Order: sequence, then structure tokens, then C-alpha cells
Amino acid sequence: MTTHFDLLAIGGGSGGLAASQRAAEYGAKAAVIEAGRLGGTCVNVGCVPKKVMWYAASLAEHFEMAAGYGFDISASAVDWGRLKQARDAYIARLNGIYAANLERRGVTRFEGLAHFVDARTVEVAGQRITADQFVIATGGEPMVPAIPGAELGITSDDFFALPEQPRRVAVVGSGYISAELAGVFHALGSEVTVLLRRDRILRSFDQMLSDRLLEQMRADGLRIETEVSPAVVEQVDDGRIVCAQDGRRFGPFDCVLWAIGRRPRSTELQLDAAGVDRDEVGFVPTDRFQQTNVSGIHAIGDITGQAALTPVAIAAGRRLSDRLFGGMAERHLDYSDIPTVIFTHPPIGTVGCTEAEARTRFGDDKIKVYTSRFTPMAYALQTRKVPAAMKLVTVLPDEKIVGLHVIGDGADEMLQGFAVAVKMGATKRDFDDTVAIHPTSAEELVTMR
Ligand code: FAD
Ligand code: NDP
Repeated sequence: MTTHFDLLAIGGGSGGLAASQRAAEYGAKAAVIEAGRLGGTCVNVGCVPKKVMWYAASLAEHFEMAAGYGFDISASAVDWGRLKQARDAYIARLNGIYAANLERRGVTRFEGLAHFVDARTVEVAGQRITADQFVIATGGEPMVPAIPGAELGITSDDFFALPEQPRRVAVVGSGYISAELAGVFHALGSEVTVLLRRDRILRSFDQMLSDRLLEQMRADGLRIETEVSPAVVEQVDDGRIVCAQDGRRFGPFDCVLWAIGRRPRSTELQLDAAGVDRDEVGFVPTDRFQQTNVSGIHAIGDITGQAALTPVAIAAGRRLSDRLFGGMAERHLDYSDIPTVIFTHPPIGTVGCTEAEARTRFGDDKIKVYTSRFTPMAYALQTRKVPAAMKLVTVLPDEKIVGLHVIGDGADEMLQGFAVAVKMGATKRDFDDTVAIHPTSAEELVTMR
């Protein structure tokens, strides 16, 4: 087997697959090394199985709404085991499709944990491979806190392996994963307590989004505990207790889920052997062309510590190969105005800067903000109402839209098109000049005053 390649991607997740396949499309001799299952985090323990669970949770909510629309149905509890089996089978099919895609494009695949031998050689499963261009795309892994009893909790990886639905759940953390998985557990019938280290959830997002989500979570019956810094987890007869630094005790729980962030997987790579720099956390810094400090060694995706999202890893990987093999000398990813959706209940869609960031960046007197809050029509015949809220952050004098934030049903599918407009530099006037689509929630975004 050939052991010299034009491009070698380390990591067969979103970024590594994208870079190697795009390179092969240009006729380059490309290879990818994967230590686990093809598709990486997104396909196996991230976006894809998460979205399956979000669909299941959304369906449970719709069953509750059915009576309001004249249907006489009573949904029994979800069969977690059956759902997991169907989800696992779907993921296995995707793993197969990814393998077939590599083969079809002529990308060579190596299995095992790779490490650098020097700046031009990588070793995997005892085999040495050389390449002209390397792409480090090894992603990250969930963190657990360094406290006694932490092993009594599970991570998002373990969430997808749960054979049964836990009844009493504590979700620790305040980012994407905490918000999303707490929502899934709750909608599917678990009793959920969310333990936040500070007073808000999703603190890095526009405050309107985090306030509205927390309000809805409380209204839906999730317990939200704030200012909780876990110090110890104890096993008692009836479950697990999370003890906070200030002495408060929470529980007992059947499941404690750590959702406190992810760390980069760079240690196993032995980057020192190649002279590649890591920052103090372990992320691999790059320039705007995804180039590390060593010529011919690039890094993309979560390992770079920038916008840890699948489409970002894919876009960075494809653009890198466009540049290296497609003759597009200046091609690179612009990391500004990346849209993102948080699959909560209701979902959140957001692009651009928060109101607070805009005020700091442009000055208070240059910012004009438009907001809207309403109950979507879907809830007109319901006793449980789930309001939607929207915000446009604009910069004077032409009211260029620099931030667009939505929480409400449909926000997930609404955002992509609006993100195009924001990326193109749309102004409030452009939104006003666009005829609304009625009756929708999205029309509020072009009718704000
Ligand atoms: P990864 O997909 O993590 O791939 C890295 C691969 O490298 C892994 O398969 C790993 O096994 C392999 N590897 C590591 N070290 C080595 C080595 N030394 N040798 C060989 N192989 C190695 N993003 C979204 O955009 N939308 C979502 O809805 C979304 N939901 C998510 C939900 C969860 C629960 C999680 C955890 C993440 C979610 N993400 C989501 C984030 C998304 O999964 C990541 O941003 C994306 O997978 C990053 O791609 P990557 O290629 O950088 O790394
Ligand atoms: P995040 O970085 O989003 O959030 C973790 C948060 O947990 C921190 O911001 C912090 O918030 C809190 N925290 C940190 N340490 C502790 C601690 N010791 N005890 C209690 N709380 C703590 O991480 P996630 O794990 O949720 O997700 C990782 C990344 O994966 C995301 O940033 C995102 O890029 C990606 N992802 C994307 C999704 C999507 O696109 N829909 C879905 C899931 C993940 P605070 O400072 O407020 O306490």
C-alpha cells in the first residue's frame, strides 16, 4: 500500500473527511486516519444522534398539543430502548455511507490512533506514513470536573449509550449541550434539574435568548438551580447527590450529566515531535489559511478552538483543499457571522453579535435595537403557550444588521436564509422592503418597528 500522500488528514470527523475528499476530487492522492468511528463526533455522538433525540422530544410536545386540535390521542411514554436501537441503526448506516464515499473518491483509509514521528511522518498501528500536506482534525472530547465522585456522572458521549431513560436527572453546565440535553430529557418525561454555575444559561449568547429560554424551562417544570459549583458527587442508597461548594446538596438523581465543555484532543498526537505549537489549553493555533506554525501542517475544526461547529470544520477543510489543490490561492474561511442553532425547546437561532457586544464595539449611540415578543399561532388553541422572541441589532446611520437573534418554534429552519442576508450586509430597510410571508413566525423579522 502507498505510504506517501499529497494530503493526509488525521481524524475522520467532519473536518478531516471534508478536507481529504475535496483534495481527492482535485486528483490529489489523499488519505485519512481515524481512531474510532468514521464521521467523528457529529455523526456518532453529536449533531446527528442529538437531532434524532430532539425530533423525538418535539414529537412528545406535539402529542400534548394534539388535544387542542381535536385529536383524541394519548401518547404513552417513549420506548427509550426502541428509539435508541433505531437511532443506532441509522448511525451505523451513516458510518457505512461515509466509508463508501471515501472509497468512491479514492481516499485511502487507515484505522488507529496516529501520532507524529517528525514534521513529515505520522505513525499509525505500527505503519509510517509520509505526506506533503498534513491536516490535523482530531476534534475534542467532553470534560468532567476534577472533583471527588465525578466518575459517578456521565458525559454527552455516554448519554448516547444510555440503554434506559433515567427518571431523575441532573444536568450540570450552561452551554449548548446542557440546554439541549436537559430539554430532551424533560420532553421525554424525566424529572430534570439543571445546575448552573452562575445565574444564567447560554451566557455567551444575547441575554434576551438566555433569559427567554430560562423562563420557558422554568414554566415547563424543569428545576433550575443557580450559583452551583459542584464540589463532590456522592452515591447514596437512592441515587447520586451533587454537593456544591457552599454546602447545598442536590438529588438524589439516577443520572448526573456533565455538560461543562469540551477539551481538544491534541495530547496523543505528540505534536512536539513535529514542532507544532499548542496553546495552554491544548488547541492548535493557525493563521487564516489554517496553517500551523509548521509549514505543510494545517489544523481545522474543533482542535483549533474556533467556533466548534460541524459546518465550520467542513468549510475550513474544503477551503483548505481548494487552496492547496484547486488553484485558489487566497481561499480561506471567514469566521465572521457564523450562524448557529441551539436545539432547545423552543429552538434558538442566532447570527452576528449580541446587543452587548455591539454596544461595546460600535458605541451605545450607534446602536438601534428592534425587539418583538409574541405567541405563535400554533398555540392559539392551546393552554400551554410557548412565546417566541426576536431581536435585530443594527448599527446607525444606515441600520446595518449586525445581530439577529430568535427563540421560538421554527427558529432552527428560519435562520439559514436570514444568515445569508446578514452576511451580505443587509440593512433594516432591506428587511422592511421584503414582503412578509403570512401567517408565519418568520414574518415578524421583516415587520419590526
Ligand atoms: P470531530 O468530529 O470530533 O472528529 C475528530 C475525529 O478524530 C474523531 O473521530 C476522533 O476519533 C479522531 N481522532 C482523534 N485523535 C486521533 C488520532 N490521534 N488519530 C486518529 N484519529 C483521531 N455542531 C453543529 O454544527 N450542530 C450541532 O447540532 C451539533 N451538536 C453537537 C452535539 C453534541 C452532543 C456535541 C458533542 C457536539 C455537537 N456539535 C454540533 C459540534 C460538532 O460535533 C463538532 O464541531 C464537529 O464534530 C467537529 O468536527 P472535527 O472534524 O473538528 O472533529
Ligand atoms: P460550552 O462551552 O458550550 O458550555 C459549557 C459551559 O459550562 C461553560 O461555558 C460554563 O458556563 C459551564 N461550565 C464550565 N465549567 C464548569 C464547571 N466546572 N461546573 C459547572 N459549569 C461549568 O460546552 P458544551 O459542552 O455545551 O458544548 C461544546 C461545544 O460543542 C459548544 O460550544 C458548541 O460549539 C458545540 N455544540 C454545538 C451544538 C449545536 O450547534 N447545536 C450542540 C452541542 C455542542 P458558565 O461560565 O456560564 O458557568
